[in-house]
Amino acid sequence: MADNGTAFDIVVLGGGSGGYAAALRAAELGKTVALVEADKVGGTCLHRGCIPTKALLHAAELADNAREGAHFGVHTHLERIDMGGVNQYKDNVVGRLYKGLQGLIKSRKIEVVEGYGKLTGPNTVQVGDRTVTGEHIVLGTGSYARSLPGLDIGGRVITSDQALTLDWVPRSAIILGGGVIGSEFASVWRSFGADVTIIEALPHLVPNEDEAVSKAFERAFRKRGIAFNLGVRFSGVTQDDNGVHVSLEDGKTFDADVLLVAVGRGPNTGGLGYEEQGITLDRGFVITDERLHTGVANIYAVGDIVPGLQLAHRGFQQGIFVAEQIAGLNPPLIEESGIPRVTYSDPEVGSVGVTERRAKELYGDDGVEVLEYNLGGNGKSQILATQGFIKLVRKKDGPVVGVHMIGARVGELIGEGQLIVNWEAYPEDVAQLVHAHPTQNEALGEAFLALAGKPLHAHN
Ligand SMILES: Cc1cc2nc3c(=O)[nH]c(=O)nc-3n(C[C@H](O)[C@H](O)[C@H](O)COP(=O)(O)OP(=O)(O)OC[C@H]3O[C@@H](n4cnc5c(N)ncnc54)[C@H](O)[C@@H]3O)c2cc1C
Repeated sequence: MADNGTAFDIVVLGGGSGGYAAALRAAELGKTVALVEADKVGGTCLHRGCIPTKALLHAAELADNAREGAHFGVHTHLERIDMGGVNQYKDNVVGRLYKGLQGLIKSRKIEVVEGYGKLTGPNTVQVGDRTVTGEHIVLGTGSYARSLPGLDIGGRVITSDQALTLDWVPRSAIILGGGVIGSEFASVWRSFGADVTIIEALPHLVPNEDEAVSKAFERAFRKRGIAFNLGVRFSGVTQDDNGVHVSLEDGKTFDADVLLVAVGRGPNTGGLGYEEQGITLDRGFVITDERLHTGVANIYAVGDIVPGLQLAHRGFQQGIFVAEQIAGLNPPLIEESGIPRVTYSDPEVGSVGVTERRAKELYGDDGVEVLEYNLGGNGKSQILATQGFIKLVRKKDGPVVGVHMIGARVGELIGEGQLIVNWEAYPEDVAQLVHAHPTQNEALGEAFLALAGKPLHAHN
């Protein structure tokens, strides 16, 4: 066993999306790998993030379908939400994927070192009384749900971690933070019948999206009966047997069964020996160069501890990148703005590349062309009874630099969007490619036909 003196080629600290992707790719490239994990391989995304939330969102969609069947001539009604059953379905999905991942790790002969690791030298990670030595080290210790100063998590004040294990549906919920995680829980709980109020300090829900999308998202949430207060800060909360009592800086107060704190995620880097080894931290995040090297010895960092988009697929790509970098393959840099982003609520939001505002900052007000294609003209979207649009942002006479979408299932369309943006396609290139009819995907084709100056089913 490579241990206490015999070095692995790579020691990965943290078995989440970033860490396990680095381990899998490195093993594929013939490296010996130790993967140190304190909890369960798969990390936040598999156990407390992407997968369980999307299972809840799917159950929520079924609840809405049951309520709305009559609209399609299918007379159904929603009897009740059995959270025990919903959680069992969610946990089964997670369990199957977890088993698959463990099998994959084993089959690639990666040694999983169970326990809490600390970086103790340029080549060593200490796990209990075991010193695990590696020629290279990859840090991927991930993130935790942050709170605000003075806002303690406990009882009815919860984060996404507790929200995912609730065995009851709150009758009412206040959600602090209208970003991706807050909006997804708002969507689930509303579909399950709760009264939901979101509080967001910035002027919009999903505030990182193109403003047109954020506004459409707010209209859709309002229509669903989800309340929100924008541009106002939280000031305090108390809780008792009856619920939580939340106050805002503008003097408004709200009561509910629970308060979900969804104000972002902080890096898990404290007390792990990173600074002692000379690694630079900025507000807890690990600073690396563009090749994800920390500047110290052969130590790299991946995933949520590296400043930028905190997304699982970014972690996967960074993990693959670092493994290839270590193996001397000189992989191409990962372009942060080319990473697709999806909010899986009802409606969904999908985007890649830059917003209209950012494009104008980059290329000037006259250097940008924008086109919005309304899903009203798309057959499949009509069949699904969804509303929304696709917004394309193009550098004038140049490539497409942003694709922004809102509507049911648009998250599935972002795959094509990211190919277009990352391959720097011109609208004219995409307009000659054929999209199947009737698909929602076809709406992207139609949008590009319109942007190329030859609209088909568009009133633009
Ligand atoms: C509610 C929610 C929903 C989300 N939905 C999505 C989504 O739909 N799509 C998406 O792309 N992203 C989503 N994310 C974000 C995604 O989960 C993260 O971006 C991703 O998990 C980051 O991967 P990571 O490897 O950096 O860290 P993590 O997944 O956090 O993994 C870090 C791992 O390191 C381990 N660890 C930490 N410290 C130590 C130590 N000292 N010793 C040993 N092990 C240690 C932890 O136990 C953990 O397993 C969601 C997140 C949340 C919270």
